[in-house]
Amino acid sequence: MEKRIFDVLIVGAGHGGAQAALSLRQQKFAGTVALLGDEPEPPYERPPLSKEYLSGEKTFERILIRPAAFWGERNVDLLLDRRVVSVDPAAHSVTLADDSTLGYGTLIWATGGSPHRLSCPGYDLVGVHGVRTRVDVDRMMAEMGGVTNVVVVGGGYIGLEAAAVLTKFGKKVTVLEAQDRVLARVAGEPLSRFYEAEHRAHGVDVRLGVKVDGLVGFQSIGEDEPARVTGVHLAGGEVLPAEMVIVGIGIAPAVQPLIAAGADGGNGVRVDAQCRTSLPDIFAIGDCAAHANDFARGATIRLESVQNANDQASLVAKTIMGATEAYHAVPWFWSNQYDLRLQTVGLSTGFDQAIVRGDTATRSFSVVYLREGKVIALDCVNATKDYVQGRALVMGGVAPSPASLADSAVPLNSLLATF
Ligand code: FAD
Repeated sequence: MEKRIFDVLIVGAGHGGAQAALSLRQQKFAGTVALLGDEPEPPYERPPLSKEYLSGEKTFERILIRPAAFWGERNVDLLLDRRVVSVDPAAHSVTLADDSTLGYGTLIWATGGSPHRLSCPGYDLVGVHGVRTRVDVDRMMAEMGGVTNVVVVGGGYIGLEAAAVLTKFGKKVTVLEAQDRVLARVAGEPLSRFYEAEHRAHGVDVRLGVKVDGLVGFQSIGEDEPARVTGVHLAGGEVLPAEMVIVGIGIAPAVQPLIAAGADGGNGVRVDAQCRTSLPDIFAIGDCAAHANDFARGATIRLESVQNANDQASLVAKTIMGATEAYHAVPWFWSNQYDLRLQTVGLSTGFDQAIVRGDTATRSFSVVYLREGKVIALDCVNATKDYVQGRALVMGGVAPSPASLADSAVPLNSLLATF
């Protein structure tokens, strides 16, 4: 069969891939565009997987990024259930798992990452779940009926969101975190302690500084069924009962085919200010793209957020259309747990002062992060006004007095004016 060649081939039909296709058409790109992904569904939103989709508040149709018919209407070839296994940059072609090849003029790599698995014995027992895809969550939901005890390994956003939903379902939930506080990688201590208290108040057993030694399973004698998880063995000897284990301990960026083809990188594929990889005519965006971020003082990082995937996708579409602007989008993120809406703007990594604005007891407050006196990020809990107004402080690198930041009666936008 003749090899199909696309002017732009997008690999990965998630947030970044979908936005890249959308932006190309919005920018009036007239060439052929294919959006290829290894999941069976058209692009869908991933954040609801640990929130409204898991809780049943939203159906799958409601979390589609666009209705299924949209892509054809925009002349985007949607190639689903197909996986790229290798890239030949010289030939401008990719090889798929079924050995077929596709050619490209420009390749946009938007493959996200796959969840880390536990490395201890029992990691692959039935009932042990990552939370990355619709299939993961459907499998969890199908098992839910027979589950009383759930152990969540990892006190990051995904683990905590899943814990909140499962608690609502009446499950007995334990969260295990290896560090001495939850959200340690992404937030300051005041926010961590607030969320620990909230989860405990909802009946979650939050355990800090604990290590999982292994998962224990059970196999019915004489049955062909694979063994099911029944418990989690902690270092120190305790065994927690668990008919379901949810593992939220981060992702490994899905960049192996690009690295094997010679792209710079390792933990992600290295991109420049316009998301170009070191390989000709190949861009990378989203969770898998290691980029120098202005809001991390130029450090090379990967950002795992819808904002970053979408903004990098739009930038690449503009670049393909001839623009020369560099990536300079303010990072933002959100998390829903119980009736708490957290909105984050900026990156708090490297802060030297964290100021609590308002009273955590009211369940509406913000944590403002400073470095050398300048505002670098805010975590706003049920405080959308702070989130909206704080953005300008982050963008401007403003240095208000700590006393005015701590006083929730002083609007953040008034601090911008006095600077
Ligand atoms: P993805 O959306 O993951 O898309 C990548 C796609 O590429 C996937 O479909 C993958 O299967 C496919 N793929 C991988 N390798 C190949 C290959 N070789 N060939 C073909 N296809 C391939 N972000 C927020 O900002 N706010 C939130 O509240 C939030 N909550 C989240 C909750 C959960 C449960 C999860 C999993 C993520 C959440 N995120 C959240 C993160 C956000 O979803 C990601 O940052 C975003 O999806 C990244 O987009 P992406 O395009 O880089 O990757």
